[in-house]
Amino acid sequence: MKITFLGTGTSFGVPMIGCPCEVCQSDDSYNKRLRSSILVQTDSTSILIDTSPDFRQQALQAKLKSLSAVLYTHYHFDHLAGLDDLRALQYHHSRETKPITLFADKRTLETIKKRFAYCFHSPTGIQNTPRVVGQQITHFHSFHINDIEVLPLPVYHGDEIITGYCLNRSFAYFTDISLMPASSREYIKGLDTVVLTALRHHPHKKHFSLQEAMVEAKKLHAERIFFTHVSHKIDHGSISPGLPGGMQLAYDGLEIFI
Ligand SMILES: [Zn+2]
Ligand SMILES: [Zn+2]
Ligand SMILES: [Zn+2]
Repeated sequence: MKITFLGTGTSFGVPMIGCPCEVCQSDDSYNKRLRSSILVQTDSTSILIDTSPDFRQQALQAKLKSLSAVLYTHYHFDHLAGLDDLRALQYHHSRETKPITLFADKRTLETIKKRFAYCFHSPTGIQNTPRVVGQQITHFHSFHINDIEVLPLPVYHGDEIITGYCLNRSFAYFTDISLMPASSREYIKGLDTVVLTALRHHPHKKHFSLQEAMVEAKKLHAERIFFTHVSHKIDHGSISPGLPGGMQLAYDGLEIFI
C-alpha cells in the first residue's frame, strides 16, 4: 500500500488566515499544511480518508484520476467540505461509472445526507453533482474494498466517539483523537505504521497534544508513528528532528509505503 498525506493541518490550515506568527509567516514548505486527509493506493484500489475543504487542490497535486471509495472519520467541516469536488472524478466517464461509496458512522452519514442532500437526490446527474452512495460502518466490524481490508475503530474526539481506520492489519489512521479506548488499542498494537493527531504543545479538549500523542505512541509499539492535524503552534523544523526514534511529524505530500 502507498499512503500519501494530502493534508496534515488542523481545521484552520497552516498558514492561518491573518496570523502574524512565525510559523504562519515561515517560508518553510513543511509549515504549509492543508486540511487533513490521506490517499491510500494499491494497484487496484484508491481510497480517500475524508474530503477536506482543500480536496480539489490535493487531488490535483496527487494526480488523482479515480477513487474506489471514501472513508469518513467524522462529520466536522474540515473533514467533509470537499465532497462536492468528487464530481470531477466522474466528469470524464460515462453514466455507467459506478457511484463512489462513502463509508461513515451513523451520525456522519446523516450529516452528509443533510448537508449534501443534492448528491443523493439526483443519482443519474452527471457533471453537476457527484454520484455517491452512503454505507454505514459498524465499529469493530471489518469489510473489504477490493484488496484492502478495512477495520473501523472507535476513538474519542472530546466527548464524542468518532472513527479511526485500520487497513490490511498493518496501517492505522486516527485523526482528531483525544483518547484511545483500550478496546481499540488492542487491535492496533504492534502495527507497522500508525498516524495520530498532534495538534500543538499545550492540551486541548478535543485533540491529542504532541506530548499526549507521544505517550500514546509508546503504548502502541508501532514500527513508525506519524503525527498529523498539526496547528500553527508547531514549527516543523525545530520539532520533528527532536522526536524519539520511529516518530515524526507528517507533512503535506509525504508518501510512505506499507
Ligand atoms: Zn479536524
Ligand atoms: Zn500562525
Ligand atoms: Zn474534528
